[in-house]
Amino acid sequence: MADRPLTLMAVHAHPDDEASGTGGVLARYAAEGIRTVLVTCTDGRCGDGPGGVKPGEDGHDPAAVAVMRRKELEASCEVLEVGHLELLEYADSGMMGWESNDAPGSFWNTPVADGAARLAELMRHYQPDVVVTYDENGFYGHPDHIQAHRITVAALELVDLSPKVYWTTVPHSAVRRFGEVMRESGSDGEQTEPVEPVEAAELPEIGLPDEEISTWVDTTAFGGRKFDALAAHASQGDNIFFLRMGKERFTELMGVETFVRVRDTTGAALPENDLFAGLR
Ligand SMILES: [Zn+2]
Repeated sequence: MADRPLTLMAVHAHPDDEASGTGGVLARYAAEGIRTVLVTCTDGRCGDGPGGVKPGEDGHDPAAVAVMRRKELEASCEVLEVGHLELLEYADSGMMGWESNDAPGSFWNTPVADGAARLAELMRHYQPDVVVTYDENGFYGHPDHIQAHRITVAALELVDLSPKVYWTTVPHSAVRRFGEVMRESGSDGEQTEPVEPVEAAELPEIGLPDEEISTWVDTTAFGGRKFDALAAHASQGDNIFFLRMGKERFTELMGVETFVRVRDTTGAALPENDLFAGLR
C-alpha cells in the first residue's frame, strides 16, 4: 500500500454519469491527493445530438454523437481533475426496450465475462482501494448502468484485491426535496397545480431510506466543480434542468454525495463520512 497512492476507481456507464453521480467525490478526493480513475463503459451514442436531436429522430448521427460526447467527457474530467480516464468504448445500449439494446457491440449485448475481463485488467493495473459503481438496478434501471454494475461485481471476483466497494445512491429525503424544487420551478411549464402530499410520498422510487445509507460525503466545497463538469455535458437535455438552477442552488441540493458500502475490510464504523475511512 505504501508504494502507490490511495486510489479511487469509479465505474460509470455513459459520459456525464461521472459528473452527475460522483462529480463531488472525484473532485474532492483528487484535491486531497488521492489518485482518481474513471472507467466509462460506453460511448454515449444514444444520447442527444447537437441542437437536442433525440436518438431515432432525423439528423441524429450516433457516431457523431459519440465523438461529441467524448470531447465533453474529456472536458468534464479536466474540471474534476480525474487522474486517469479509461474508456471501454462499448456502444451505448439506449433505454430499456430500445432496438439499440441488441445492436452489435452494444454494452447490454456484451457478455458480462467480456466486460469483466477488461475491467479486471484495469483493476490489476490501478489496484483501487475504493471502487464505486451502481446498484444491481443500475440506480434507475438503465441497461448500461445495470451492465456496469454486473461487470464490476464480476471483475472484483477475478482480481486478488479487497477494495472497499460502494453503490451510488440518493437518500429519499433528497429525492423529496428535489421533487419540491422541480415543482417550484415548474420545469414542465404545465405543472403549476399544487401537488397532493400522497403524490410526494410516492415519489421516491429511486434511492434508499436515509437510515439505510452508510456513507455521506460532504462535497459542498466542490459543488462549483461538479456544476462545471455537468455544464461540460450541456448537450444532454437531462442535464439542463440542473444547470438552470445555477451554481449556488445546485450546490445546496447536490452538495452531499451518498453511497451504500457493500464490501469493507477496514472495519470503519458506520455511518461514515469518507469513502476512505479506515484507509488513511
Ligand atoms: Zn448513464
